[in-house]
Amino acid sequence: MEILNYIDGNLLPSKNNEWIDNYNPATNQIIGRVSQSKIEDVELAVNAAKKALPSWRALSIKERAEYLLKLSTKIEENLEELALLETRDTGKPIHTSKNIDIPRSAKNLRFFAEFAINQKEEEFHGEGLANFVKRSPIGVVGCISPWNLPLYLFTWKIAPALIAGNTVIAKPSEFTPTTAFMLSKYCKEIGLPAGVLNILHGLGPEVGSAIVNHREIKAISFTGSSRVGRIIADSCGKQMKKFSLELGGKNPFIITENADIDKAVSTAMRAAFTNQGQVCLCGSRIYIHQNIYEVVKNKMLEKLKALQPGNPEDSLTRFGSLTSIEHFNKVKHYETLAKEDQAITVHQENLKMTEGNFIAPMLLENVDANHPINQDEIFGPIATLQPYKSEEELVTLANSTQYGLCASIFTNDRDQANRLALKIDTGIVWINSWLARDLRTPFGGVKASGFGREGGHYALNFFTEPKNICFPEEL
Ligand code: NAD
Repeated sequence: MEILNYIDGNLLPSKNNEWIDNYNPATNQIIGRVSQSKIEDVELAVNAAKKALPSWRALSIKERAEYLLKLSTKIEENLEELALLETRDTGKPIHTSKNIDIPRSAKNLRFFAEFAINQKEEEFHGEGLANFVKRSPIGVVGCISPWNLPLYLFTWKIAPALIAGNTVIAKPSEFTPTTAFMLSKYCKEIGLPAGVLNILHGLGPEVGSAIVNHREIKAISFTGSSRVGRIIADSCGKQMKKFSLELGGKNPFIITENADIDKAVSTAMRAAFTNQGQVCLCGSRIYIHQNIYEVVKNKMLEKLKALQPGNPEDSLTRFGSLTSIEHFNKVKHYETLAKEDQAITVHQENLKMTEGNFIAPMLLENVDANHPINQDEIFGPIATLQPYKSEEELVTLANSTQYGLCASIFTNDRDQANRLALKIDTGIVWINSWLARDLRTPFGGVKASGFGREGGHYALNFFTEPKNICFPEEL
């Protein structure tokens, strides 16, 4: 498949006609080629977005919502095809694409369409004054998304940007461009006005960087690694450009002495290994109260035996391939670190897949809190098990990395849940669950996990500027 840019309502290759190979990571076979856009393609897209802005922002929210709802329906109608394409790009099980990624992509568009319509303007009255807060779109904005949840995170960004009245230059990851390309075809089919959404493909340091640095692009919403997040913060800071960063995580998953052990164990396995451990929210440091450590560990090892990597296109597969050979090599590095360290105990079943970027999931014991395995975001199927004695020690351990995205706490004691939740430095805490999402709630992290929040009115606020209009009360 040829992955083309979508600019000013047209599907076209990059101006220089250069291409990047696109691989299926489960087979390492080339499945297509991707337009390798550069700064000149960003210029074209910005011109189109500027031209489309006045009439798009002049539409009512209800009129803009109609387009988002039509796109959402298109995704639902094409669920089977999109799921297969997502699986071929990422190596994730078709079961995951069909039941999580693609339905959630449709839901993102529908959610923001319906949510935005119901937003009320703020007003403040007092001391003879009436203050009305009007929110206006920013203008042309940039949305850059990663490869782990391709269409899911792409729609999560463009939906609030568009419904708020901005025109958008969006870039999916070069590793997983296909479903965003399909979305551009649906935009044409539903008659989205030309230039409202422009989708550029290519490499991060080339086209991504050109988007971030274009002076006519007034805000950047980025999801990706903390490493690139720092580069973007630096560039946007210099340009005084608004930005939001959803970055990496190294999340604690806590099982206290009075937790429901079976529920905690099955959720911990899901949190550690969903999408082969390639979710920013994965719980990769599992802290278990010392009095239940052996029981929990044995139950987890029992479940690990059943989690064998398999062909992602087989509907029975629940654990697929890593998403690229580059990422496979990164995760392998940490596997080697663990296996070469005499102090570390590695629990891992033998791998049956003989080709592609498969790694059997691992649970590790006796990994020091300061070891790179417990400090770095591996973003793969490697989780550590660590006993703890007291809440004080637990909080210190949980807060011991540069990251602060989310935490899960399993306990049947509500006071303990509140006490721990308030002491753990993350943007999200789940009690007795993981990745339970209400799309209205603030989503994002602290420390190196990010800057700003997505979801509900947090995203709408990011993509608009408030203006306070102050009247004398009598007028
Ligand atoms: P990445 O940072 O390498 O790339 C993300 C996107 O940025 C891609 O589209 C890439 O092409 C682009 N990019 C790369 N360099 C750029 C540059 N210099 N300027 C502009 N754009 C550039 O991340 P990735 O490897 O694609 O994704 C995995 C990372 O994303 C992990 O760290 C994961 O935790 C994080 N993530 C975070 C969240 C969250 O919501 N916090 C969600 C999913 C993934």
